[in-house]
Amino acid sequence: MTDRPELSVVIPAFNEEPNIGPMYDRLVKALESKIDGLEIVFVDDGSKDATWECIANLAGEDRRVKGLRFARNFGHQAAVTAGVDVASGKAIVLIDADMQDPPEVIPEMIQRWREGFEVVYGKRIAREGETFFKRTSAALFYRILRRITDVDIPADAGDFRLMGPRAVEAFRALPERNRFIRGLVSWIGFPQIAVSYHREARHAGETKYPIRKMMRFAVDAVTSFSFLPLRMATVLGFIVSGSSFLYILLVSVLKVVGVMRFGHTWLMASILFLGGVQLVMIGVLGEYLARVFDEVKRRPLYLVGESTDGKTGVVPPQRPNL
Ligand code: UDP
Ligand code: MG
Repeated sequence: MTDRPELSVVIPAFNEEPNIGPMYDRLVKALESKIDGLEIVFVDDGSKDATWECIANLAGEDRRVKGLRFARNFGHQAAVTAGVDVASGKAIVLIDADMQDPPEVIPEMIQRWREGFEVVYGKRIAREGETFFKRTSAALFYRILRRITDVDIPADAGDFRLMGPRAVEAFRALPERNRFIRGLVSWIGFPQIAVSYHREARHAGETKYPIRKMMRFAVDAVTSFSFLPLRMATVLGFIVSGSSFLYILLVSVLKVVGVMRFGHTWLMASILFLGGVQLVMIGVLGEYLARVFDEVKRRPLYLVGESTDGKTGVVPPQRPNL
């Protein structure tokens, strides 16, 4: 097939050996008759199990399958980016390898795209097989994020989405390294619409997002799309200076009247309180600074160790230096 396929499905996979085969079967079954040319791009994000062997076998049997293997684990968002970089389809669907996002929803997304929407994102109306902590922290996080950013990032939506050709072109041009993909796709604009779906439990294996990665992901999201944490230092500064001014007035009056002496407990408490606030704010500055440093280094976002077509180079195409 020399013509461009109509749709590429991009699937990041990190230690998803038992999921690759079933995912492929379900995708092909759900899509084969619905579109004019399909491409399936698996990105192995440095798995330690036989994920790559599964992908390579599939690619050997079916020419529609393409696989990339990272030189090491570069993270979910880098894997998705790599998939979009090499995909040749007109539209691209991003979907997880664990089948939590059912491939059967994709035809509905394609339908909406054909109606003229450039981005069709999946909105989770129910989440199964996830802990109470994960569900509530996710719900809270998306609501806070929406409040503190100017970009309209929909709540309860993950990376499961379809992007049309214009959105794909725009997405490929985004140069940043700290990528919060669902936010970036919202930032792109164009007509966007939601498709509701039921988020299922993982088909096999465990979540590849432990608390540590989730926290980092959340901080990436906030720092990529909001300056509010930085501004909080200014606001707090004004509040503390204002109240200390009032405090000075109060102490002066009490001194003149000669009734009151403040002991060292009070002094100690205020020093510790201020010290704490200052350290937190330096930490916030540090988070932004570290990300700025990361951007300036301009290291590639990922490195490719192997590809099933043998054509993809180790170093990805340089993103435009806008
Ligand atoms: N993933 C990845 N690299 C990582 C972590 C996860 O490519 O470092 C993939 C993973 O294989 C899956 C998707 O990203 O296809 C989403 O991960 P997971 O299902 O573990 O996240 P959850 O659904 O629990 O939020
Ligand atoms: Mg999952």
